Amino acid sequence: MLEDGRIVSDVFDHTSLLRFLETRFGTKAPNLTNEWWRTTVGDLISTLGQRPTSRSVVRGVDTCGMADVAALLAGAVGAEHVLIGDAIGDDYGHDEALTAVPETPAFVVRPADTAQTAAVLRIADEHRVAVTARGSGTGLSGAAVPRGDGIVVSFERMNEILDIDLHNHVAVVQPGVTLEQLDEVTAAHGLVYPVFPGEYSASLGGNVATNAGGMRAVKYGVTRHQVLGLEAVLAGGDVIRTGGKFVKATTGYDLTQLIIGSEGTLAFVTEAILKLYPRPEHQATVLAPFPALDHVTSAVPAIVAAGTGPLILEYIDQLTMAAITAHVGLDLGVPEDVKRRALAYLVVMMENTHEDRLDEDVQALGEQLFDLGAIDVYVLPARAATQLIEAREKAFWVAKANHADDIVDIVVPRSAIPAFMAKVAELGQTHQSLIAGCGHVGDGNVHLSVFQPDPEQRHKVMRGLFETGMALGGAISGEHGIGKEKRRYFLELEDPVKVALMRRIKTAFDPNGILNPGTIFD
Ligand SMILES: Cc1cc2nc3c(=O)[nH]c(=O)nc-3n(C[C@H](O)[C@H](O)[C@H](O)COP(=O)(O)OP(=O)(O)OC[C@H]3O[C@@H](n4cnc5c(N)ncnc54)[C@H](O)[C@@H]3O)c2cc1C
Repeated sequence: MLEDGRIVSDVFDHTSLLRFLETRFGTKAPNLTNEWWRTTVGDLISTLGQRPTSRSVVRGVDTCGMADVAALLAGAVGAEHVLIGDAIGDDYGHDEALTAVPETPAFVVRPADTAQTAAVLRIADEHRVAVTARGSGTGLSGAAVPRGDGIVVSFERMNEILDIDLHNHVAVVQPGVTLEQLDEVTAAHGLVYPVFPGEYSASLGGNVATNAGGMRAVKYGVTRHQVLGLEAVLAGGDVIRTGGKFVKATTGYDLTQLIIGSEGTLAFVTEAILKLYPRPEHQATVLAPFPALDHVTSAVPAIVAAGTGPLILEYIDQLTMAAITAHVGLDLGVPEDVKRRALAYLVVMMENTHEDRLDEDVQALGEQLFDLGAIDVYVLPARAATQLIEAREKAFWVAKANHADDIVDIVVPRSAIPAFMAKVAELGQTHQSLIAGCGHVGDGNVHLSVFQPDPEQRHKVMRGLFETGMALGGAISGEHGIGKEKRRYFLELEDPVKVALMRRIKTAFDPNGILNPGTIFD
């Protein structure tokens, strides 16, 4: 609050504010007239004043106010890379989770390198301020939603591909590099980083933090199978390097794997060493309509066992297929009578470096699909195939546009998918909810949209889905993570011994609890 150019606040003292302004404006500080104080500083004060001080953020006692933190952050990354108040765009307050409530952080900082990231975490730790890392904000679990009194560390400026090492077949990337960026560069070398979660604007830092999966996991596994090493900043600002440009190491605990999938709660990733593979030139996509969903799900283990190593093995239910193809105006040329009979589709993409071997595999797959009960089998023209895969990747946007109330990405052993889907149908009926979807059926990861506006009913459906998945030997999330939105279910349903162990690991990495509080744990 301002009175006649004087700051009246028990949180922001004059000296620290002046220090902040000096850092921002340098020696050419503007003439500090009453009017100037009223507008510029008034905005800053009222923005900061609406937020609790850092004292209330996490455990520990600290006497420093937010203006001190602002000054220190400006000193660490440069004042122009500390955003406050109206300068913070809406995007920094949310990810793509359907149910997460957006929250504007107190500060957004944009470090240029590892040293600046370390300086920011040191400041946050000393002053007990919550810090949330942000990649591209495409996450689906609310994990990137910050605290209103915290700092967002956005890795948008750390977006360089540092090395494409052709001898060791690895890429070394900064966390802000997007999948799209990496794919373009690797393609030019005839190589591929094979993890393709459906949103290519996602960052590699975000992929590592969520252990992202995607459609190709049936062949290449998920992010954790493709990361050889990391550089990471710990909560107190120490920098560690884990792993390296090699595939094996038995040298103490595997910290690389511990950090992967930890959703920004253990350390901030500032570099990743990723495996690269030769990019197969030839691909073919087969579409097989089936008369019932359980025929599709039962067919999957047999297809995997045949050994042709499909790159993609997806199921799409009738409703979802109609919605995603209509969304992009895609006509796959499936006759109307087949469409009417088809309650589910299997999409299989194969790849090979040799065209003739690919043809043999596709021929064998087609015969197998008929044997497994497919109504028909179509080898899609290349353009239609690309469009179908893209449409499938956009399934989330279609669900959102159709007002899905929540989504799940439960994973079960692939042989348990028929039993899981039977229970899904039962839960939908019991709680009068529409549950539709598609999924990376080759790796047991089922994506479902739940349409149930009543929160109490929806909770019953969600809990029922998670309980069923776990009872069948599965897990709550195959790839999106727990974040803030699945935390309640995770804490209710997961083995308490494991949760307690995870809490101890969290404390060992982050004793003051500053890293993304509220994510995974409460
Ligand atoms: C249309 C659509 C399709 C999708 N399809 C898939 C899919 O097929 N498979 C899949 O797995 N996911 C999918 N996703 C989810 C999302 O793309 C992934 O979770 C992705 O890994 C998030 O990356 P990001 O850069 O957007 O991370 P963000 O959303 O910014 O952050 C995600 C988490 O990572 C943390 N984080 C970010 N950067 C760092 C860092 N450098 N160090 C430490 N922590 C960090 C954040 O704090 C947060 O906890 C999809 C999303 C959309 C919108």
